[in-house]
Amino acid sequence: MLNETELKQRFKSAAFIASSPTVAQCPPDGGYEVAFAGRSNAGKSSAINALTDQGDLARVSKTPGRTQHLVFFDLSQNRRLVDLPGYGYAKVPEAIRTAWRGVIDEYLRERIALQGLVLVMDIRLPFTDFDQQMLAWTKARGLATLVLLTKSDKLKRGPALDVLRKVKQELPNHSPTATVELFSAETKTGVQIARWKLAEWYSWATPRQAPAPAEILVNLPPP
Ligand code: GDP
Repeated sequence: MLNETELKQRFKSAAFIASSPTVAQCPPDGGYEVAFAGRSNAGKSSAINALTDQGDLARVSKTPGRTQHLVFFDLSQNRRLVDLPGYGYAKVPEAIRTAWRGVIDEYLRERIALQGLVLVMDIRLPFTDFDQQMLAWTKARGLATLVLLTKSDKLKRGPALDVLRKVKQELPNHSPTATVELFSAETKTGVQIARWKLAEWYSWATPRQAPAPAEILVNLPPP
């Protein structure tokens, strides 16, 4: 079982490995991946930086020419964190939006390594069309999903908890496999909780137990 420091260390080791414009160009589909999605400006890069405790890791995803790419970060032992292209720039031409939808849709539908999705929503603007589309995709695949209500430091505690409660109520209508947490890259609210959730998806927190030999099971006394 990991302790808090070891968990943090695993995320801190994240390193850029690839930037892929299409699913066909992604690293080989093996091991475990957790993908991050969010409407642009929702705080996705800041969340990745906070989780990995690296000041500018996700900046690589924002370099011109890469904003429509899937960006892969290695966490060793065939675990990867994937920054999906952001969405919502007002002036993006329709052709690019269509291509974007195609790439994300294909990645979410077909990527076998994908264990879970982190959906970053600005606490002041939850359930945008983008968010609803993402949740519909995760529902279609039955994919484990963690919604992070980012920039929670922008609201006082009472109003922030109000939004959390409302989102908790509404979330099952969009996706039964989703849970939600408050998050702030500024105050680090929710950072460790999110790391533990990802640890579960990466199969870090609960290393698989070797199955008991059949003869032991057979010889067990009845309950
Ligand atoms: P992205 O486009 O989704 O990757 O969003 P960024 O991470 O670049 O964040 C967009 C803006 O929101 C930046 O100005 C960030 O500094 C700000 N921001 C992101 N997360 C937080 C947060 O938790 N608290 C506050 N106060 N601002 C944040």
